[in-house]
Amino acid sequence: MVSASLHITTHSPEETEQLARNIGSRLRGGEVIELVSDLGGGKTTLTRGLAAGIGSKDSVASPTFTLSREYAGGRLRMYHFDFYRLHEAGIMSDEIAEVIGDPEGVVIVEWGEIVQQVLPPSRLQIVITTSGETDRELAITCPPSLAYLVEGLL
Ligand code: ADP
Ligand code: MG
Repeated sequence: MVSASLHITTHSPEETEQLARNIGSRLRGGEVIELVSDLGGGKTTLTRGLAAGIGSKDSVASPTFTLSREYAGGRLRMYHFDFYRLHEAGIMSDEIAEVIGDPEGVVIVEWGEIVQQVLPPSRLQIVITTSGETDRELAITCPPSLAYLVEGLL
């Protein structure tokens, strides 16, 4: 079976967050979501919705300087990585590999190029393109094993 590909346009940060909340509410644990965009594309905004969708009330912020954050209090743990401007994966490869194995957790990665080799092929990938001040084109690629995350989403 081939991966499904969905294209959705959002017109505000709230709309992006709402869409992500919907996806987040479907998470079962063990999933990896890779978010791809330029700076300011909306990766962290999306992550905020995903965290809300698993029921975490923790505040979500870009872990650009800390590289990773963990959100608790929801149905699942959420590990949020951001490798912006990281030039060598180093021990971060091991750190992310370790939590990818957590069946009660989900892993969200911004700027994941540098850890490509440890990301599972069966991950949800969302590529965001800025098409206007508050318009974003979301291209979601979903492997068959994660179809439940996007079924009936539109
Ligand atoms: P990234 O993590 O990709 O750098 P952020 O989520 O931190 O991006 O920032 C996205 C910025 O774009 C925020 O200031 C947000 O309010 C704004 N924005 C405007 N329109 C949208 C939209 N449709 N979806 C997401 N963010 C949007
Ligand atoms: Mg960010």
